[in-house]
Amino acid sequence: CGIVGVTGSQDSLSILINGLKRLEYRGYDSAGVYVNDNEGHDYLVKRAGRISNLEEALTDDVHGMSGIGHTRWATHGEPNEANAHPQYSSDERFYLVHNGVIENYAQLKADYLADVDFKSQTDTEVIVQLVDKFVVEDQLSTKDALLKVLKLISPDSSYAFVLMDKEEPDTLYVAKNKSPLLVGIGDGYNMVGSDATSMLKQTNQFMELDDHELVIVKPDSIEIEDFDGNEKHRDTFTVDMDP
Ligand code: GLU
Repeated sequence: CGIVGVTGSQDSLSILINGLKRLEYRGYDSAGVYVNDNEGHDYLVKRAGRISNLEEALTDDVHGMSGIGHTRWATHGEPNEANAHPQYSSDERFYLVHNGVIENYAQLKADYLADVDFKSQTDTEVIVQLVDKFVVEDQLSTKDALLKVLKLISPDSSYAFVLMDKEEPDTLYVAKNKSPLLVGIGDGYNMVGSDATSMLKQTNQFMELDDHELVIVKPDSIEIEDFDGNEKHRDTFTVDMDP
């Protein structure tokens, strides 16, 4: 399973598809992308099976300046289109890709989301519905809502998350715990991916992420802070490898 995200590039869709193909070795049973053109159009395409199935489903109108992609290895819910990622909130505002397992998802669902109509059997959908709830009902910013959710996730859980908010489509909200995730630094755009090879075609400059950080990736900036809001500095490193 693997994750790719990009913001600030005309070629977002092909960058995501290339990245997902590079992550095929990690194994997967379904795949999906969400892209947003920053002009009010967005597209969600998911398919069970191979990445070629996903590619066949991408019509010419699907395009974006930013987006997220995922290859899934099912842990909660069978491998089908509804359970493929990106998972999204009922109001179709928030989109989330996730690698890992949220161990306390059933408890979170019971405690906070008893009235929500779920579209999938995934642990992941609980997280994206919860972010939406804290934004819409508690009027938190997306960042604060995500932070609140991250603090509610049990520490034995594993995740690499990339979240997008349709109302702020150039921003990738990123966090990890025990699952791999790297930031890739581009010129006028930035990326995230499960490993360096998923981004090497675009860039050889990377930034490592630690567990329990909230990372806000925009086309021209990367902000890292811990869950208490302390800003963190991170050096970049170069990977010298053929793409
Ligand atoms: N637990 C999530 C699911 O089953 C993510 C699986 C993965 O890491 O691909 O949908």
